[in-house]
Amino acid sequence: MPRFKTVRGMRDLLPSDAQKLRRLESLAREISELYSYEEVITPLVEHYALMDKSGTEIKTRMYTFEDLGGRRVVLRPEFTASIARLMATTLRNQPKPVRLFSTGTLYRYDEPQFGRYREFWQSNFEIIGSERPEADVEILSLTNQLMKEIGLRNYWLKIGHVGLLRGLLSTEGMSAAEQNTIMQLLDKKLVHEAIKQAESTVSTRGISALKQLLQAKGDSSSKFFKQVEKPLKGYKNSLNALNNLERIITLCKEGGIKFRMSIEPGFARGLEYYTGMIFEVLTPELEISLGGGGRYDRLIEHFGGEATPAVGVAHGLDRIALALDKQESHLKQNKKVVAVIPINAKVIPQAINLTQRLREEGIHVMMEIMGRRVSTAIQDASRRKIAYALILGPDELEKGKISLRDMKRREQKLVDYQTVHKTLTEELTN
Ligand code: AMP
Repeated sequence: MPRFKTVRGMRDLLPSDAQKLRRLESLAREISELYSYEEVITPLVEHYALMDKSGTEIKTRMYTFEDLGGRRVVLRPEFTASIARLMATTLRNQPKPVRLFSTGTLYRYDEPQFGRYREFWQSNFEIIGSERPEADVEILSLTNQLMKEIGLRNYWLKIGHVGLLRGLLSTEGMSAAEQNTIMQLLDKKLVHEAIKQAESTVSTRGISALKQLLQAKGDSSSKFFKQVEKPLKGYKNSLNALNNLERIITLCKEGGIKFRMSIEPGFARGLEYYTGMIFEVLTPELEISLGGGGRYDRLIEHFGGEATPAVGVAHGLDRIALALDKQESHLKQNKKVVAVIPINAKVIPQAINLTQRLREEGIHVMMEIMGRRVSTAIQDASRRKIAYALILGPDELEKGKISLRDMKRREQKLVDYQTVHKTLTEELTN
């Protein structure tokens, strides 16, 4: 028999990784409730044409195939195209703003390496219908709160605005397609190649302004914004973009939303549909981003919907889990588990009965079902890091008692059988 392995780039998530991922997903869902986002579950398989139309460079890295009905389909490489499809069709007449949350797996044929998988998880938030900076602020704020609740340390948001570069390049007469090439080179950190490419169209003054934008990096101070403004004189669309970015940052500051940030006017993200503010979540432990997003005001109209502004973010849950591991920070375990161990076959009915009773009280229970000796069952419970064991013996039960063992302290005491759930609840909350 051949020994089967997972397909290259695909992973089995064993219990501790699966638990971490589900915990991150439930923290993201809590944030979605806190911020009034409603969940939608869109299909994993979409038409190839949908992703083709979203115009992202991801389409060269998609899992594409023909289904048995001869349709050309893909495994979704991102959520935003599916959300834009929904907004252009079924949710077209929904009162705006619409706030949507999604979570699940995505598929990209990336070269597998640390933090880069072919199947990975995201939590995704989108606000549709508001062009105002308050919407951008909300996306930054919920990302910040999620990272805090997760317990991530030392993270910062790298923030830019695609209108800065696009405003300059379009005023210099560059087509949208040429601009996309430059943005992709910049996203891949190929700065020299990007400048070289621009030199064929852009004036000397434009190239000097471009170089200054690419070098600028600063904080939220108005001094920094003034400094970026200087080379952009005469580039009206870039100046509008700079104003919009400054407004978003000022609203964050004045609204008391506190996070570390690095404003980078030369920052470009891979997805071509962005039209406004863009950002990424970074930590010192990883060189790749833990999340990213931005404003895309023209995507929904591009899919046949009405012109609808939108802004959103995707958080990479696998990479967040990796960063937490590197920071040696542990997500809080949901609940402690109790083992129920019958001493012999006679007391099995009572053990099942007790197990049921405890579960009805919301206590997590693992019953001994292997018929093992008590000492072996206790050893097994210890290996599984179980918090307490309840040991049922016929003699004690006759007197209405059972043994409660604190596994960590290795201490055992007799407690009342009828009220054991109360005793346990007290112990578990201490
Ligand atoms: P994007 O959808 O490209 O804007 O990416 C948003 C986030 O998804 C990134 O910041 C990563 O955290 C995560 N991500 C993107 N591609 C991958 C991948 N191949 N493997 C793991 N996480 C990824």
